[in-house]
Amino acid sequence: MEPMKTVITIDGPSGAGKGTIARLLAKKLGYKYLDTGALYRAVAWKVREERINLDNHGALKKMLEDIEISFNGDKIFVDGMDVSLEIRTAEIGELSSQASAIPVVREGLFSLQRNMCLQGRIVIEGRDTGTTIFPEAENKFFLDASIEERAKRRYEELRIKDSGITLEATIEDIKKRDLRDSTRQNSPLLKTDDMIYIDSTSLNIDEVIEKIIESLKESR
Ligand code: C5P
Repeated sequence: MEPMKTVITIDGPSGAGKGTIARLLAKKLGYKYLDTGALYRAVAWKVREERINLDNHGALKKMLEDIEISFNGDKIFVDGMDVSLEIRTAEIGELSSQASAIPVVREGLFSLQRNMCLQGRIVIEGRDTGTTIFPEAENKFFLDASIEERAKRRYEELRIKDSGITLEATIEDIKKRDLRDSTRQNSPLLKTDDMIYIDSTSLNIDEVIEKIIESLKESR
């Protein structure tokens, strides 16, 4: 079957539950799963590691040409090093949000994402998967939740690794990221008419997955 039918895109703001939903959905369908946010986080990790100034677009471009990002199950590797845990901090979250607004960063990560979609049978989640990465997908979703609920979910996730984090700081951080993600010039977070909107504020994981599966267009 053509990839348009077997690529499922899920876009939405931070903390909407895209990662959990996409991972479980992929497992259920026997599809691959791509967390595109992890790519931006991996780039941010390397930016910090190499002390690259985000204003230095030449250095960023060169780094993106050289960086090797790979996956193994739930783990993500940068140049062969397992960074799965290190990229999940609030600091890397903020840096990745800043880096993701820079065109050379988005361009540098485009082909990797696009090529995975072209192989089909994949659930891909992020901010621009249904608009920029694979606009021809026939199964596009926009997953949302109230800001309070999203901050609560992010906080629960972060506090395991970051003992200094507070709920108030997480709310402020999410607000800032929402604004940056939806107002940037390059591939802003956008809900288009061909996306099915799901508000997960009062739904559990199974209910969201059920809703998605019910609305899939001949994807199997
Ligand atoms: O989803 P997650 O919080 O892991 O993503 C990290 C950052 O990467 C986000 O704040 C967002 O700015 C950026 N991002 C993006 N486009 C995507 C996925 C993530 O700009 N497709």
